[in-house]
Amino acid sequence: ATPTAVMVATGVGANNGVLIKGGDALERAQKIKYVIFDKTGTLTQGKASVTDARVFTGMGRGEFLRWVASAEASSEHPLAKAVVEYARHFHFFDEPSATSQTPSKESTVSGWLLDVSDFSALPGRGVKCFIDGKQVLVGNRKLVTESGIAIPDQVENFVVELEESAKTGVLVAFDDDIIGVLGIADPLKREAAVVIEGLLKMGVKPVMVTGDNWRTARAVAMEVGIQDVRAEVMPAGKAEVIHSFQKDGSIVAMVGDGINDSPALAAADVGMAIGAGTDIAIEAADYVLMRNNLEDVITAVDLSRKTFSRIR
Ligand code: ADP
Ligand code: MG
Repeated sequence: ATPTAVMVATGVGANNGVLIKGGDALERAQKIKYVIFDKTGTLTQGKASVTDARVFTGMGRGEFLRWVASAEASSEHPLAKAVVEYARHFHFFDEPSATSQTPSKESTVSGWLLDVSDFSALPGRGVKCFIDGKQVLVGNRKLVTESGIAIPDQVENFVVELEESAKTGVLVAFDDDIIGVLGIADPLKREAAVVIEGLLKMGVKPVMVTGDNWRTARAVAMEVGIQDVRAEVMPAGKAEVIHSFQKDGSIVAMVGDGINDSPALAAADVGMAIGAGTDIAIEAADYVLMRNNLEDVITAVDLSRKTFSRIR
């Protein structure tokens, strides 16, 4: 392709909300053999919402949610946003006496949240902080077991129940005890299944990689039509997954939105960031899909194939 053709293709991409950072990436995209999709926020809408909240101790639900939302308030993770939103809703609508303010402004919840210290976001696990002298953990099994906290059977059973219905179970521990579990559902993007089918027709193999647990991952993959699933993958592990597909010289694309996807986006031959994703992911990627629509993965491959007019 001539430099002009590349320029034209870049312009066509831009007009369709596909930002291409350079001709090399554009050229590599024609040969993509595997597209590795992140799950949360990429295949799914990233508009997770809390569907279940169970407290296993005598703690009141409102107080429980207040603690959990306080811990999650500093996290950018879609699950964290869902938790804060749910707590906010609960606070205003189920305990209206707790405030005289209207529920319309997000900012009104901040006064309700508790002071948090030593906050840390642990990628692929959850969040950790201190509230009122207590260590608060909000995240997956790995997060709590790594801190030496045992998961009682009734908690495990409830989490499994959530996972089997494609939900993510979020465990909440105060100091050494698990206090409650939240169930979070994140619907698939409407176009996801069609895009997977389209890629298969183009001879491109879709793969799902996620930090989420196996049970939820399998349930989601089945819904969207992906056969090859890698679950419980830590952020650094996502880049390793990319390398494993590259071993035989295959050209591999990664589509992701999160901070945790950025090493994989950088490792991929073609990194594609969801425009609504985090800045770090966008920086690490070769392509930015501004419309947040997965159909643009197909647009990107098509555009490259046409520009370099490969006869297939
Ligand atoms: P994905 O690869 O699907 O985008 P992540 O690597 O971001 O998922 O997260 C993996 C898992 O870590 C989540 O499914 C969840 O169990 C847990 N997790 C991560 N961040 C949080 C958080 N802020 N709150 C609760 N759980 C979290
Ligand atoms: Mg994600």
